Amino acid sequence: MHSLGHNTVMNDTNPLPANDWPELQPGWVWLCGAGPGDPGLLTLHALNALRQADVIIYDALVDSRIMDWASDKAELIYAGKRGGKPSAKQRDISLQLVDLAKAGKRVLRLKGGDPFVFGRGGEEAQTLVQHGVPIRIIPGISAGIGGLAYAGIPVTHRDVNQSVTFITGHDQSGDTPSALNWQAISDGSQVLVIYMGMKHIAPIAQALLDAGRASGEPVAVVTQATTPDQRVLETTLGTIVADLEKSDMSPPAIICVGRSVKMRQVLDWQSMISGENPRNLDPLGRGKPAEAS
Ligand code: SAH
Repeated sequence: MHSLGHNTVMNDTNPLPANDWPELQPGWVWLCGAGPGDPGLLTLHALNALRQADVIIYDALVDSRIMDWASDKAELIYAGKRGGKPSAKQRDISLQLVDLAKAGKRVLRLKGGDPFVFGRGGEEAQTLVQHGVPIRIIPGISAGIGGLAYAGIPVTHRDVNQSVTFITGHDQSGDTPSALNWQAISDGSQVLVIYMGMKHIAPIAQALLDAGRASGEPVAVVTQATTPDQRVLETTLGTIVADLEKSDMSPPAIICVGRSVKMRQVLDWQSMISGENPRNLDPLGRGKPAEAS
């Protein structure tokens, strides 16, 4: 059993490492990713922003422990909006950001993961620019990369994939994205990372099977990734629907389709921290050292 040594590693004697940290000026909006959950996955730019903002508008997926790092004086506005709700509200949020900036506030718009990955950050930023509001964009760790890493799944691996496709399981209407060409997706990428895919997992899995993906292909579902409530379901394309029904797992979930899911058998580092042995040191059956090409 390894020691985690959580106590002494970081402390408050140095508020932020020396750097030319930008100042959040009145009338500006910083559009910032908060990462997938674990507060330690926040960027230093995000922390710098949290400490300066007068107003913080945050999403449902921003971990409450991160909000605890906001300045005591900051006004916190919850803009919770979970999958498939009317998009009119999106416009309200964007216009509220404009109003706050025009009122001379130092505004932080905090979104889960990365603001420009399936987060409508692009729309909000565009509205701000259209209204003449100056912006800064602070990227974050997206759930489809960082969340899978916490489950011990590398989104790329030389033995598995030369490309990865990020997919949304919802479109603007809240339905399965009808615009997606599942045949092309299936043919084009060995590894698929699906955001917002829980609700429509049955038609999505069927579309991939119809497009020729094997029913035995490994799939992982990671819910509440990087948080203390993280859960991982390992299944296959053919069994995912039944397995999810049996489980009591609920969104937010990242779904990964592809052989890289097998790497979890050797890289489930969270289980290893709690004392478990890796299940299989060579899950892809390379039969030679991992670094040998
Ligand atoms: N901008 C975000 C994605 C927003 S869309 C990002 O870059 O991560 C919301 C979807 O993201 C959720 O439905 C889910 O699919 C995924 N997601 C976000 N946080 C997650 C988490 N902690 N665990 C699992 N999935 C997550």
